[in-house]
Amino acid sequence: MEQDIARACEEARRDRASVTLIAVSKTFDASAISPIIDAGQRVFGENRVQEAKAKWPELVAACPGVALHLIGPLQSNKAKDAVALFDAIHSVDRPSICEALAKEINLQNKRPELFIQLNTGEEPQKAGVAPADADAFIASCREKYGLVISGLMCIPPVDQAPAPHFALTAKIAARNGLTNLSMGMSADFAIAIAFGATHVRVGSAIFGHR
Ligand SMILES: *Cc1c(COP(=O)(O)O)cnc(C)c1O
Repeated sequence: MEQDIARACEEARRDRASVTLIAVSKTFDASAISPIIDAGQRVFGENRVQEAKAKWPELVAACPGVALHLIGPLQSNKAKDAVALFDAIHSVDRPSICEALAKEINLQNKRPELFIQLNTGEEPQKAGVAPADADAFIASCREKYGLVISGLMCIPPVDQAPAPHFALTAKIAARNGLTNLSMGMSADFAIAIAFGATHVRVGSAIFGHR
């Protein structure tokens, strides 16, 4: 995986250090994750707060340099656990989550890096802010809730070419002064890197099939 990412960076004429590989360990237990930590990987992604809470505290205690990213949907009643456990949250997408996160960030005095999830394909079953609402939502995160937003995240529709979705995400980020882009998974991380991804979320290509 490391070689594939290095090659994609080279092809995109980008510095390897400008792309963070998030190893998505959802559904895999500690016995599958430990060898990946031992191999030197330090950034991991999970899509469910409860699952992460059950398996990660022990792993983090054994390797304090590990960073955890929440890449799946967040409910406001899980904001407390999410802020306590995660170093980054990629699924900020509605006012109730902003409010719950702002409250916990203040209470816990902890500042996870925050990404706003866009629903670039406008798929009804998918979480995320519609592209047309993105500018206003980003502004309200900042002004109304006092959140520091790091970047945007997207998950292109499975049945479409991802490139236009990555390009749109990059464009909305640029016009809002956001530098980080969480985009690209096992099947399309190289394309995402060509479109400026700073965080690629790779699961099955590292851990195998789920
Ligand atoms: C599962 C998941 C991934 C990783 O997907 P792979 O195809 O296994 O690389 C990336 N992003 C999100 C939001 C996910 O839920």
